[in-house]
Amino acid sequence: MIEVAEKGVRAALADREREAGPAAVQHHLTHWRLAVDEDRVAWLTLDRAGEGTNTLSATVLAELDAMLDRVLGLSPRALVIRSAKKGGFAAGADIRDFRGVTDAAEIETRMKEAHRITDRLAGLTFPTIALIHGHCLGGGLELALACRYRIATPDAKLGFPEVLLGLHPGLGGTLRLPALIDPVTAMTMMLTGKSVPAVKAKRLGLVDAVVEERHAAAAVKAAADGTLKRPATSLKSRLMVLAPARRIIAKRMRAEVEKRAPARHYPAPQRLIDLWEQHGDDIRAMRAAEITSFAGLLAGETAQNLIRVYFLREGLRAAGKGVSDIHHVHVIGAGTMGAEIAAWCAARGKRVTLADLNPKALAKAIGIATEFYDKKLHSSIDRRDALDRLIPDFNGDGVAGADLIIEAAAEKVEIKRKIFADLVPRLKPGAILATNTSSIPLEMLRDGLPDPGQLVGIHFFNPVTKMELVEIVAHDGTAPDVVQRAAAFCGDIGRLPAAVKSAPGFLVNRALTPYLVEAFLLMDEGVKKEVIDRAAEEFGMPMGPVELADRVGLDIGLEVARTLRETFPGEVPDIPAWLETKVKKGEIGRKVRRGLYDYDDKGKPRKGEAGTPPADMADRLILPVLNTCVRLLREGVAPDEETVDAAMIFATGFAPFRGGPLHYARQRGIAEVEATLHRLAATHGARFTPDEGWARLRLGA
Ligand code: NAD
Repeated sequence: MIEVAEKGVRAALADREREAGPAAVQHHLTHWRLAVDEDRVAWLTLDRAGEGTNTLSATVLAELDAMLDRVLGLSPRALVIRSAKKGGFAAGADIRDFRGVTDAAEIETRMKEAHRITDRLAGLTFPTIALIHGHCLGGGLELALACRYRIATPDAKLGFPEVLLGLHPGLGGTLRLPALIDPVTAMTMMLTGKSVPAVKAKRLGLVDAVVEERHAAAAVKAAADGTLKRPATSLKSRLMVLAPARRIIAKRMRAEVEKRAPARHYPAPQRLIDLWEQHGDDIRAMRAAEITSFAGLLAGETAQNLIRVYFLREGLRAAGKGVSDIHHVHVIGAGTMGAEIAAWCAARGKRVTLADLNPKALAKAIGIATEFYDKKLHSSIDRRDALDRLIPDFNGDGVAGADLIIEAAAEKVEIKRKIFADLVPRLKPGAILATNTSSIPLEMLRDGLPDPGQLVGIHFFNPVTKMELVEIVAHDGTAPDVVQRAAAFCGDIGRLPAAVKSAPGFLVNRALTPYLVEAFLLMDEGVKKEVIDRAAEEFGMPMGPVELADRVGLDIGLEVARTLRETFPGEVPDIPAWLETKVKKGEIGRKVRRGLYDYDDKGKPRKGEAGTPPADMADRLILPVLNTCVRLLREGVAPDEETVDAAMIFATGFAPFRGGPLHYARQRGIAEVEATLHRLAATHGARFTPDEGWARLRLGA
């Protein structure tokens, strides 16, 4: 059977397939195709059936094993492995296979079988060549590393992102990468999860050649002929393999890694360092140790929780798919939020008009955008285009043409109402009216609108350029297609939409406020702020509540807490009077370099020594968050547990390795959390009383 190039196969490679003339032999399995050209080079193409991206599953590897039998039967001069997918070579293992696996012994058995197959590939006596375009990650890179040569096109990106899932490479990456390139660079790649572009990969010796697609065939021929020049291993690399050198370097790596990802929460990086330190000069021992270590990690809590986070992200991403039909965004208010929202949307391809009563705010906003583009957009054309798309609008002319209006003016009901009233006569039909309010229920803003269905909350978090989550807030009359388009708009601009119902504080601010206020109460009781922050950090929060309050701004925090206190007096305790005094004095946090902490010129808090926090301090801070999350679920503000967990992780950085607040409660045991809340209520006050929603969770409803 002769296969001609089919749709989806990259044009140049398809040409190559044709150029090879009538292929002598062709085999076709579900995920792989094999052809041999006139030059007796075998071309093995991975084209995972039913998927847009190549990933490695047990079946894909079993078929590779079967294909290797056929390759051997053909006695080719060389074997090329490449991908038929447009996006890249292979994105890694199929993470769906990793979900919910907790039997380490079974994982070990599966990994041994996978190793047997890649080792077979690595052991072939004729030249084997991975021809790489696009992403070549994780298991995909391990497959490529099992080949003798790697030839990449300039768009290739190679890396090991396993660490982000609480793992390290498990299919020979930990042994093959340090054996191929400078071991310290190899370890850094695996410890950070960062990928490298093709040109850098060549410099590192990770790929042997970088060629445009049209030259790929010539490079393959050179590799098959043995004339492709390969980078030599440096003396430094060889020295690094010696045990004493590894010991010293490993110690340094451990200290470095511990600062970013403490081993008690993220064990994978330390295990990877152990592997290299103990077996860096013995490939065979390293292979066995890699399998055992990988299986232990994958079956462990951290990896399983991070895999859950991966799917939570995918879930929100899916909600952001679809057509927004939003091309022109008009932003009102060029302050902290409006300026960043406008800059971000323009960077992501939207035409943006930005309006403010104050022309100085507009000038400042353009300055902020320029600075951001200079830092984050790499090509001068991209920078110019983004700035071209961002238009300061002194007279509000942008309103008439906008598909979406985002109001980000001051947090006052009357101001927002007036803005909407002025806008309405000028809106184009079908335009969406959105507010970025953090606490005003939308019901208070929709009155007076001729079509309340067009009003939705699109609530970004600060800083917009860093926080991935956006709450899409619907009031009881928001039109479903407006919610859908708002979510799709988030997808367009690379943000994760979480659908919530309108209620004071919505989801994230409401759940976070008890955490901040509890910290103020602890300070009132005389606990050192450093100790409070340390308790939260040890739990796994990215930042303690005292530092976070300063970061948010005590003025803003106080305003939100006050509003929520009025509506939910049982949930939010009294705010200490000294906080109001501080705000009145203008000591409102990091932005003025003085708040609960003092700050240095770089905005770093000057912290004193933090002693060991008492045992129940983390519970005092975190359990009120959990309690509020349960209440939000019961009240229907959040549709499901996944949305709550995802929102708290992607908006606040809630300890990702715990899989989200509600998942944490489930892992700890609902009954135990309730009992602890009862205990805290008895000693510290009624605010800890468990919400009735816990019973529903306990019963699995
Ligand atoms: P800000 O005070 O920094 O900026 C508000 C801007 O709006 C100012 O430049 C002001 O001149 C302008 N403005 C006021 N009235 C206006 C009007 N009638 N027409 C046009 N412009 C007007 O405020 P901010 O922190 O950017 O907050 C804006 C909105 O975003 C608020 O609703 C706030 O609750 C919400 N929000 C703030 C944060 C945060 O962390 N700052 C986070 C999420 C949401």
